[in-house]
Amino acid sequence: MKVLVINCGSSSLKYQLITTEDGNVITKGLIEKIGGNSEFCFYGKNGEKITQSHKLKDHAEALGVVVSNLVDPAYKFVGRLEEIDAIGHRVVHGGEEFSKSVIIDDRVISSIEKYAELAPLHNPPNLLGIHSCSKVLPGTKQVAVFDTAFHQTMPESSYFYAIPYEYYDKYKIRRYGFHGTSHRYVTIKAAEFLKKDIESFNCITCHLGNGSSITAVKNGKSADTSMGFTPLEGVVMGTRCGTIDPNIVYFLMNKENMNTAQIDQVLNKKSGLAGFSGISNDLREVTAAAKDGNRRAAIARDLLVKSIRRYIGAYMVELGRVDSIIFTAGIGENDAYVREKCVEGLENFGIAMNTEINRLPSIRGQLTDLSLDGSKTRILLVPTNEEYMIAMETAWVINGK
Ligand code: AMP
Repeated sequence: MKVLVINCGSSSLKYQLITTEDGNVITKGLIEKIGGNSEFCFYGKNGEKITQSHKLKDHAEALGVVVSNLVDPAYKFVGRLEEIDAIGHRVVHGGEEFSKSVIIDDRVISSIEKYAELAPLHNPPNLLGIHSCSKVLPGTKQVAVFDTAFHQTMPESSYFYAIPYEYYDKYKIRRYGFHGTSHRYVTIKAAEFLKKDIESFNCITCHLGNGSSITAVKNGKSADTSMGFTPLEGVVMGTRCGTIDPNIVYFLMNKENMNTAQIDQVLNKKSGLAGFSGISNDLREVTAAAKDGNRRAAIARDLLVKSIRRYIGAYMVELGRVDSIIFTAGIGENDAYVREKCVEGLENFGIAMNTEINRLPSIRGQLTDLSLDGSKTRILLVPTNEEYMIAMETAWVINGK
């Protein structure tokens, strides 16, 4: 099956055309700055990067350019548009309603609209992608794959906050969790790799990128996760503070005379690695500065590691038996130091890393067992692939699986 995977941001459209039988990416690309002088970048049949400039007023026009490109005889990605069997959309928030991917119809669209209140930066552009596809590729089935769906298996003790219950009733304030597609993908891959039955597989998945979250997976299902009502909670991130004492919010608002939009900006955009180090949200730059003797950069990296260790510890207790600790995404896949520090000193718990393998540059992009032979918990590097997971989910839903 050929699935067009779409991930729309407020002024961007990312896509991949994937054959689900073998995971082959026929082509992929990105349009940025939609609404003005847009930049279109895609990859040709031989992996060569091609860039073009277009004036695109909205997402529908952007999708029009993508679709023309897919059938352009110069590239031969597909002969005819009818060869695209389905479209899979990344949708960030599915509220409590969606615990699985679904075929998009009017009811699903109005639910995604409803949950825009919970994800105001993400659901509206995801909807733009859906509406654009209905316009440009009418008749092609569309599937919504939700970031929140995987976490709908969490027990009440994981997802409720101990605030007055009426706020759950009124506003559905609870933990939702995010990055579900990635956590699910690496769980499936790790279970396959370790030849374990997913139904009894326990692991801690560390998705560490610019946004990061950690999930406790029990018997193949999400049992707890670090991101909460919004993606602000949890570990220290590129520009997000992660978990802090909520009283800091009112204290700062009073002292600095800030309104809600300003404090939101501080905690979501000006905190984390960037805010504390004053250097960058990119761990590579923070690390370089730390190596040059910048004290705040060094501490910022320690804060990141400490926050991850807190969740690993908590989830070890939650799970009781941990078959695997999995590192994925930009930092998890590439930063040997962070991986090493996250599991340092855990030998007494049956967790021991082979630091020599962990430091090998050749493991980049490869599913690799990073643990010592006797380690009861296998420490794995599993490259994530959210687009492939979305394509697979789309195929499963279309085929009624
Ligand atoms: P993601 O959100 O998964 O794309 O991850 C992006 C983040 O991964 C960047 O902001 C960097 O902090 C981090 N990253 C990417 N490559 C490396 C690397 N080679 N070493 C350390 N961190 C990296």
